[in-house]
Amino acid sequence: MASITLKNLVKKYGDGFPAVNDISIDIEDGEFIILVGPSGCGKSTLLRMIVGLEDITSGDLYINDERVNSKAPRERNLAMVFQNYALYPHLTVFENIAFPLRLAKGRHSEEEVQRLVNGAAATLELTDHLQRKPANLSGGQRQRVAMGRAIVRQADAFLFDEPLSNLDAKLRGQMRSEISQMQRRLGTTSVYVTHDQTEAMTLGDRVAVLKKGELQQIASPRELYEQP
Ligand code: ADP
Ligand code: ADP
Repeated sequence: MASITLKNLVKKYGDGFPAVNDISIDIEDGEFIILVGPSGCGKSTLLRMIVGLEDITSGDLYINDERVNSKAPRERNLAMVFQNYALYPHLTVFENIAFPLRLAKGRHSEEEVQRLVNGAAATLELTDHLQRKPANLSGGQRQRVAMGRAIVRQADAFLFDEPLSNLDAKLRGQMRSEISQMQRRLGTTSVYVTHDQTEAMTLGDRVAVLKKGELQQIASPRELYEQP
């Protein structure tokens, strides 16, 4: 797991107003940080800068105290979970979860692939579904397969971009408690973008509020949502 330090991060697309403007946050090892704010405030851009999908215009990004500004995404060892969890329809749940391990050719024995995938499946209660195809799963189960992929990579941190926003209210509630349990079990460092106040309240150690690219406030959910 990892600490992530954002120091005066700036992102400018072209010569317009900065999408991310001088944001500094110290994310502790094992901490669950929620990013909230209106559409267009820079949440996705910030997430993509951390994971390495977007260049940093200025400022510094550290993972475990190592500056990673110019490191490629795969060298940063962070796992991104998107809302449109791109699963491979022709592969079983097992092979979908194993996919990142198979990609990293030669690094994992078949025994280790079995051990890691079965371990992740147990954590996510997918053991009974390993031989099924994504088309035969519920939305929540598909979301769990996407998270299984992140878990087997043994990433240093998880980055979530509104992972539950396409699910109905009931599933969202189930997934919320699953993510929360997973967090307790694995102690994962997480950065989680959401519009949902309940998700922020139940999952977040701290909530960072963004507005027009700037960090307006960062506080515990309690301080933020229960203030007068
Ligand atoms: P979100 O749902 O996070 O608000 P958007 O719908 O704003 O996402 O953006 C979806 C995609 O379009 C992203 O990959 C983003 O980088 C890109 N995008 C957003 N705004 C612009 C823009 N003004 N010009 C070009 N691409 C953009
Ligand atoms: P959020 O995720 O909070 O909705 P974004 O990070 O998607 O916000 O966008 C922040 C700002 O940056 C918006 O004004 C958006 O239009 C702009 N933006 C995002 N991606 C691009 C892009 N690829 N090209 C140009 N502008 C972009």
